[in-house]
Amino acid sequence: MFEISFIPAFKDNYIWLLTRGKRAFVVDPGDAATVQARLASEGLCLEGILITHHHADHQGGVAELAAGWPVRVYAPGNESITGCTDPLSGGECIDVLGASMWVMAVPGHTRGHLAYYAEGALFCGDTVFGAGCGRLFEGTPEQMTASLDRIAALPDTTRLYCAHEYTEMNLRFAVAVEPANAALQERVARVAALRAVGKASVPSTLAEEKATNPFLRCGEPAVIDAALRQGAAGRDKVAVFAAMRGWRNTF
Ligand SMILES: [Zn+2]
Repeated sequence: MFEISFIPAFKDNYIWLLTRGKRAFVVDPGDAATVQARLASEGLCLEGILITHHHADHQGGVAELAAGWPVRVYAPGNESITGCTDPLSGGECIDVLGASMWVMAVPGHTRGHLAYYAEGALFCGDTVFGAGCGRLFEGTPEQMTASLDRIAALPDTTRLYCAHEYTEMNLRFAVAVEPANAALQERVARVAALRAVGKASVPSTLAEEKATNPFLRCGEPAVIDAALRQGAAGRDKVAVFAAMRGWRNTF
């Protein structure tokens, strides 16, 4: 079992740090300096890097970290990732600090986006956020819907370690979609209390996202109705998702 904590980077990124004793992995190190500082302060030895997708705020620190540590760099094989040693496409099982980590293909935000699952924890990059999901820069609504379905099929107790602190902003949109959702109102209050004292709103659980995240609720009548009011082409999940994602982009 590894322990999980985060290294804050840039304005709102979380670089997840996995440790087992003095052994460490990081997920999506967009910035090397903050990671190096944390490794030094805790006397950790970096063994590996997991990359979810190619955006600079997720892989920008890889070259510098790989120059200083003998790391394996696991990353999408069909995206341009600096220093990738182990190209992946989803479906693989990799050893991370003695844990068996399952690699999931979750295209949508980018075409090769991966998520990593082990021991009840999912590192989902920019695919699912607290109460939201990533923009479709390279993928289609069909792909993203299938990716979200793949994530939704994990156990409800799964903790979602996303890469950004976007929850409060996303909740404002979620409330516009489902003003009568009581679980959503409860989450708004809970997240506001956490953020008011500077605490992270992540990880959340899959159960919590299923109850409050509109992008995981595209089959719910209230979300379907909201999507239709936004001009959704139909009541099916992909059409509802596409309308919701478009609305969110301009919200
Ligand atoms: Zn991204």
